[in-house]
Amino acid sequence: MSRPATSAFQALDRATSRHLLHRPPVHPPRTPLASRRPHPAPTPASPTSTGFTRHGKPRPFSIHRPYSTAAGSVQSEAHDAHNRQPKHDHEHEESPWEQNLRPSTKACWKCDASIPYLSVHCERDDCGVIQRAPEEEANYFEVLEAGLDKDGSTPTFDLDLKTLRNKFLRVQQRVHPDSYSQKSEREHTYAETQSSFVNKAYHTLRNPLARAQYMLQLRGEHVGEAESLEDPELLMEVLEAREELEEAGGEEEVDKLKRKNDARIADTITALSRAFAADDIAEAKALTVRLQYWENIRRAAVEWAPGKRIELTH
Ligand SMILES: [Zn+2]
Repeated sequence: MSRPATSAFQALDRATSRHLLHRPPVHPPRTPLASRRPHPAPTPASPTSTGFTRHGKPRPFSIHRPYSTAAGSVQSEAHDAHNRQPKHDHEHEESPWEQNLRPSTKACWKCDASIPYLSVHCERDDCGVIQRAPEEEANYFEVLEAGLDKDGSTPTFDLDLKTLRNKFLRVQQRVHPDSYSQKSEREHTYAETQSSFVNKAYHTLRNPLARAQYMLQLRGEHVGEAESLEDPELLMEVLEAREELEEAGGEEEVDKLKRKNDARIADTITALSRAFAADDIAEAKALTVRLQYWENIRRAAVEWAPGKRIELTH
């Protein structure tokens, strides 16, 4: 997120040359986060077939829904049949965000007590030690208890930044490494990793572009920095915006261009919010790529200075 202005346009240059050469970008297939995690096999003993979700709610359908967005959605015949059912059943479906199955509890590393999986500290009064950071097994929404829907399982793009900040400060205070300087080395290390994990979570979720990229990542979609624009009209608009900025005669003109670009950013964020609300992941991905370009233009406008050239060399 803190790339210099020189690289801000490298992606654009690469995208432009790709576009002119009519050569589609080649992305290595990416394994969705979920499939890299331990995943219980759908045996009769697994949580997916017990008739209960991992939140303990009764599972209305016993259909196993394998989501693998990176390699295209794998859908069973049963699921296709399910899709033909009346729309009002939708609210009972298991959310695709729930694909990251993990145990609901873990054992405290010190006293072995069974505690909720995301507990930062052991819940036993006579223990209370800090736990290892969940890293890959938890998503940022859960860790900060923010931006989740009323069921507490579906990440939402529209999160309240003030609530997010309050949650972050509260958790951060509890894991601050300074409070663990007198503790064992293990506890101090856990405090450090917890602290940096929470920081990363907060800084990812507070920024709309990073949040969108992260939400797509949770669904197995990777949006790279050098992602090309498929829409020729949009590509022209981006090139034009860059040219205007390069040819700007002074700060006043740059301010005007920046405001124009801020409006594009706001529009894209509104559209992203709608796409995520409708669970239209393909549209959300296209809009995220678009937002990346407008963010590059914004950064170049912010870094503009009289006499300072916008370097376009690689
Ligand atoms: Zn304990």
